Amino acid sequence: MRIVVVGSGYVGLVTGACLAHVGHDVVCIDKDASKIDRLRQGVIPIYEPGLESLVQADVKAGRLAFDTDLKACLQAPQDAIFIAVGTPPGEDGSADLSHVLAVAAEIGASLQYPAVVVDKSTVPVGTADRVRATIQAVMDTRAVPVAYHVVSNPEFLKEGAALDDFLHPARVVVGADNKDALDVMEALYAPFTQAPSRFLAMKVRDAEMTKYAANAMLATRISFMNELAQLCDRLGVDIDNVRTGISTDPRIGAQFLSAGVGYGGSCFPKDVKALVHTGQENGVAMEVLQAVEALNDRQKHYLVHKMQLALGNLRGKRVALWGLAFKAGTDDMREAPSLTIIADLLAAGATVVAYDPVAQETALHAFDLEGIPASSVEMVSSKEAALVGADILAVVTEWPEFRAPDYAAVAAALHDKMVFDGRNLYEAAHWARVGVAMVGIGR
Ligand code: NAD
Repeated sequence: MRIVVVGSGYVGLVTGACLAHVGHDVVCIDKDASKIDRLRQGVIPIYEPGLESLVQADVKAGRLAFDTDLKACLQAPQDAIFIAVGTPPGEDGSADLSHVLAVAAEIGASLQYPAVVVDKSTVPVGTADRVRATIQAVMDTRAVPVAYHVVSNPEFLKEGAALDDFLHPARVVVGADNKDALDVMEALYAPFTQAPSRFLAMKVRDAEMTKYAANAMLATRISFMNELAQLCDRLGVDIDNVRTGISTDPRIGAQFLSAGVGYGGSCFPKDVKALVHTGQENGVAMEVLQAVEALNDRQKHYLVHKMQLALGNLRGKRVALWGLAFKAGTDDMREAPSLTIIADLLAAGATVVAYDPVAQETALHAFDLEGIPASSVEMVSSKEAALVGADILAVVTEWPEFRAPDYAAVAAALHDKMVFDGRNLYEAAHWARVGVAMVGIGR
């Protein structure tokens, strides 16, 4: 099948590469010409394990191409046009649909052959109607109308495991109010959903809500565990044992139950905000999610709070920070807890020396957006280098390379002999053996 994917970021690029991998002919579009130039040279602008080799293989096979010109692509027949552009939070917390609707207007202006328009971006209930109205308004100004249907196909991939999630999905959700459009989507996804039960067809609005419900549920689990962890700290209870104790209950399950420094990334924070906003617009207070969000905002400050409890004044302390990315497996720094932690440390008069295996470049851009002067954070090229001259160590991202440190070497390097484990990666006993006190979250 012939497919256009508009927006070549984390979702668009993975979608395009995976659809091409199973034999579809795909063009990935982006308005960022420098991104498209790099992609044409085989350079992947984001860190996502396995993506570079998949893209290169697809391009070599002649099934994946990159372009800035959506109009030109729409001069030829296409089965589906995916909209996979960003939907960042607006000032009031609502999802900013300006990029989505700009693409819809372009489709309305340029579509020459019947096609299915697929909302892949995370968008509030009712957006497919707005996309349809936008396409139609522009198309009405043209002499020749073209048939199209708008469907919702939210994406559930996780950064860091995006290829596996897309190639072997737990489910593919498609909201369609038209049988022909649904048939196109079913054919398109057939290579990924061998078990028919994995292809979940529903109404458009139900599919739009399903995406928000999934992210809101996962964010709720994290905030719930973080709140319990704060209580465990007061009571001398180990949250990690509690986590194991409840995760073996099949009604609860094991995923997204780790206490830590709070959730971040490009999805949970903005999607929780957007759902709260949708609720308020419709007279439903969304009190659970408001609490989830408030708790998460607090949690991002918790690690530095624990440093202050343990050490008193942080002024003049040199803090080695292991990890900047909002989670392991990605270079995404959007809403990363490390940004709050760094800002808190600098405000407390500490100095920060940071190492992340892949996110140091994106971190510089994120510092800029957050008003953190890049010169105020020393970046080094290894976890060992971060320890040189450090007073304490704070572990902020759960990268595998941090999980089994050389305990004795860390102990020898740290002046204050303290490790603050923001991801509950370690056992205190391992640190105690080398004379280091470990402070975790809820332990
Ligand atoms: P992103 O910022 O990485 O990529 C978006 C891309 O769209 C950018 O490259 C941008 O230049 C491009 N773009 C914007 N307007 C355009 C236009 N008019 N024409 C062509 N290109 C345009 O965003 P992302 O992380 O890929 O997220 C995209 C959507 O998918 C969002 O709605 C997000 O909530 C959702 N989503 C993201 C994830 C994730 O893990 N990142 C997972 C599931 C769903």
